[in-house]
Amino acid sequence: MSETETIRFDSLDISSEVLRAVARMGFTEATPVQAQTIPVMMAGHDVIAIAPTGTGKTCAFGIPMLEYLQLKDDGIQELVLAPTRELALQIAEELTALARFIPGARIATLYGGQPIKKQLAALKRKPQILVATPGRMLDMMERKQARLDGVHTMVIDEADEMLKMGFVKDVTKIIEATPSDRQLVMFSATTNQDVMTISWKYQYRPVEITIAAVDENKPEIAQYVIDAERNDKEERLEYLLDSDEYHRVMIFTNTKFMTDRLCRQLQKQGYKAECLHGDIPQGKRNLTMEAFKKGKFPILVCTDVAARGIDVFDVEAVINYDLPTENEYYTHRIGRTGRAKRHGVAFTLMSFQDSVRMDEILRYLQGEQPEKLEFDEMGVLRHANGTPFFDKI
Ligand code: ADP
Ligand code: MG
Repeated sequence: MSETETIRFDSLDISSEVLRAVARMGFTEATPVQAQTIPVMMAGHDVIAIAPTGTGKTCAFGIPMLEYLQLKDDGIQELVLAPTRELALQIAEELTALARFIPGARIATLYGGQPIKKQLAALKRKPQILVATPGRMLDMMERKQARLDGVHTMVIDEADEMLKMGFVKDVTKIIEATPSDRQLVMFSATTNQDVMTISWKYQYRPVEITIAAVDENKPEIAQYVIDAERNDKEERLEYLLDSDEYHRVMIFTNTKFMTDRLCRQLQKQGYKAECLHGDIPQGKRNLTMEAFKKGKFPILVCTDVAARGIDVFDVEAVINYDLPTENEYYTHRIGRTGRAKRHGVAFTLMSFQDSVRMDEILRYLQGEQPEKLEFDEMGVLRHANGTPFFDKI
């Protein structure tokens, strides 16, 4: 499914009661994790969904859970495990909202830190749905207050967090108290060894669903890599600057020495450039920053450290003259562009010696891979498909 495709809840095979509740909650379109999980869960499959926070996972499992509910039957049919009491309460609240038009649905929440009496009373009311933290769940099982042998669907929310918190044994015990043919669904922001082990041990042919982060404030940054041997870097850099496309540019190098030298070189060639690094007194640095912000000069050459203290504002282009020594720096550096205008451009000049480092950065970037640009024999920068990068040459 493409990311732009939208799925309305009413196009999914959901009962009218749940649809009404969803509409009441103000939702019309399913989020990607919902659009992908709901049909698969309703078809009875085990699921392992890797999705970042805020993507709408609760409804993704909450809706199918309510569709499964057998109101005639007593006993616990569905169980959600959550790592913390706050999360358990939040999930129970959302399930209650979803079940608003299903009068016979009973939801109970079990977590530590509250007198057990109240929760025992809740269990006496024969909930079909239980939301619990692992510790309290186990406690109730040991007190013979909750039987899980009628569980149809078990959901482990924030599995990575839960297993990181040392709940592996508890979670395992709880899973083993449910029937072996129950549906097991796991949600996790990341994968880790424990998550994979639980999946491998207890899931039957799980359907894997992976969702990328949704970040609407994320600027669109066009990223490019240009081959440039050490001795050619300055010439390549000047080509980019001469395009006249960018009126506020940050150029990153890795050392104070390089920053100074490159800046002097550029000045000698007639560019209005200033530099910023840790050896420059703070007062002078502030003046330079102010002037750059106000547009008094277009080119700032700097190190990562010097740039770090600066509050972010918009630059049109970021150029990595040196490859950053830390992967995270790459993201920080290019994040200086694209803010106000929502799109920016980042160039990385890559020498043969840089290529190993670049591979590491590419692995770190995962999805968003920079495009490779090349100079032809006439010295014109071109896209891979041959079109010139800059219109006017
Ligand atoms: P996650 O568990 O992935 O962190 P939540 O299930 O807590 O995400 O949902 C995050 C927020 O998005 C909540 O405020 C929830 O009410 C809202 N939300 C969930 N589904 C939708 C939807 N389909 N449309 C709009 N908002 C939604
Ligand atoms: Mg959640």
